[in-house]
Amino acid sequence: MRFTAFFSEPAARAVRRSGLCKFAVLVAVSGGGVVAYADASSNHTEFSQGTPKKKLVVLGTGWAGTSFLKNLDTSLYDVRVVSPRNYFAFTPLLPSVTCGTVEPRSIVEPIRSITQKKTGPVGFFEAECYKIDPANKKVLCRSSIGTNLDGNGEFELDYDYLVVALGAKSNTFNTPGVTEHCHFLKEIEDAQRIRRSVMDCFEKASLPSLSEEERKKNLHFIVVGGGPTGVEFSAALHDFIKEDLSKLYPDIKDLVKISLIEAADRLLTMFDKRITEFAEEKFKKDGIDVKMHYKVVKVSDKAITMTNTAAGEVNVPYGMVVWSTGIGTRPIMLDLMKEIGQGDRRVLATDEWLRVLGCENVYALGDCATITQRKVMEDICAIFKVAGKGNSGTLTVKEIKDVLDDIIERYPQVALYMKTKQMKDFSDLLKDSEGDSFKESVELDVERFKKALAQVDSKVKILPATAQVAAQEGEYLARCFNKMKKCEEKPEGPPRIRGTGRHRFKPFRYRHFGQFAPLGGGQTAAQLPYDWISIGHSTQWLWYSVYASKQVSWRTRFLVISDWMRKVVFGRDSSCI
Ligand code: FAD
Ligand code: MG
Repeated sequence: MRFTAFFSEPAARAVRRSGLCKFAVLVAVSGGGVVAYADASSNHTEFSQGTPKKKLVVLGTGWAGTSFLKNLDTSLYDVRVVSPRNYFAFTPLLPSVTCGTVEPRSIVEPIRSITQKKTGPVGFFEAECYKIDPANKKVLCRSSIGTNLDGNGEFELDYDYLVVALGAKSNTFNTPGVTEHCHFLKEIEDAQRIRRSVMDCFEKASLPSLSEEERKKNLHFIVVGGGPTGVEFSAALHDFIKEDLSKLYPDIKDLVKISLIEAADRLLTMFDKRITEFAEEKFKKDGIDVKMHYKVVKVSDKAITMTNTAAGEVNVPYGMVVWSTGIGTRPIMLDLMKEIGQGDRRVLATDEWLRVLGCENVYALGDCATITQRKVMEDICAIFKVAGKGNSGTLTVKEIKDVLDDIIERYPQVALYMKTKQMKDFSDLLKDSEGDSFKESVELDVERFKKALAQVDSKVKILPATAQVAAQEGEYLARCFNKMKKCEEKPEGPPRIRGTGRHRFKPFRYRHFGQFAPLGGGQTAAQLPYDWISIGHSTQWLWYSVYASKQVSWRTRFLVISDWMRKVVFGRDSSCI
């Protein structure tokens, strides 16, 4: 029960005894979500009638949506979840699925197994939301299962609170032919298709009466995008071919080629240079042809066209192309953004409490949204006013030090700036901006205050689109929702620096635990907190243990570990099913 995480155990017990028991009685008396759900004559899209619970609709069952659901006290809300996938997929292991190291079923968990364990009823609809209507507080959905349904299975859901966790789509940058001829690696189905396609290429290249040229073409695997997914997939494919397929296809094994195309000047740009250099060196040794500074401009059914300043335009025939150049915004999100005045943005913006800007009671998290961190300079006069209790028009350094923790809570860039400059407190910031003329005893006017904080906004960070961020956002938002009722009565949290009043919750803070880049041959690179870099076979064991521990259930943990052991004993499965 999540209550224990936020309240002391006796308080949690009291809440359970009073609040939750009342909720349980209410659900039983009113017929509640479960009973209404089981009634064949009832409209399944209706929320349970007569309960005082607020209607909470969650869109998406990926990292953000599932983390939110797992941590939410569902007895407090009338919860409905909508997603075209009735499962959660552990995306970091998708590259392993493409080569049969891990089976698809081992990395998915049915969403109903997760919701069934919750204290309150949770409705799930396997459907796609095609419109969010914030003005009328409803979402329009259509079933993604079949067309033999009345009205094509379309329905509407009203909400009091909406949690949008729709993820993102693969970004093609409108390059012609990509959607038609390339594979993406985003969903379980993509990984399964890639696995079949790799085997098809080998089987095609083994057919009699093919010219050597034709065989080579079919065995040319091109990966576009040198980010973490492209690099990991290239490494996984190389291992699959080297360790398994070359034994099964000895006559054609020497014709195989893997090319990795990157538009920038290095692979894994978000990683430390040492990791990038190691990856490039390793791929060179492995015979993976890394082409830097190449931009793909067109893909046809036979060849990929790229441009490079030195080589000009080149056409390269291929057997299979995997496109992995990052993510873009889903059309449904673009429509929502237009409607709420965010049409000029690339990604939906939320504040640090994950509330969608320009929308009441709508929250967005994960890859579909980005947090816009407020800048200190936007609020500098308000901060100055709040910090100066006497409204004297000046501030003492002590007065500022008293509220510095609150300022840092609201504007984490201040702490980051001070950390990078090895500063301990506000006096150091002042010393830095004023040099020799600095005197701690003197009172500060707003101009001096501005000058001291002028550089801190350079440390505003945009969070990356990763599972780690999405999961932490889901957990954070669930905590807010769990506390929402209590906080309505007694607001808590840091003083709101801007204006008066107090925020009910602390803003979201991301904690980075590091990132991995598996490079094949049992070697992985890791960039851990405090810029600690670890590369090699021992890091691969760290990778195994972290990914095993991060599985959402003991069932998937067991399946993933047994898949890894099966691969060691029997090798990967090469059948085309
Ligand atoms: P998703 O997990 O994509 O979930 C979106 C959900 O919305 C899905 O359930 C989808 O079915 C649903 N949905 C979509 N459209 C609709 C609609 N119209 N109506 C209703 N529901 C809808 N991150 C890491 O931190 N570490 C890694 O090692 C890592 N490896 C990765 C490897 C690969 C191959 C990929 C593709 C990604 C990897 N990521 C990794 C990134 C990570 O997967 C994403 O950042 C994460 O999935 C984002 O979570 P999300 O919940 O926002 O979106
Ligand atoms: Mg995000």
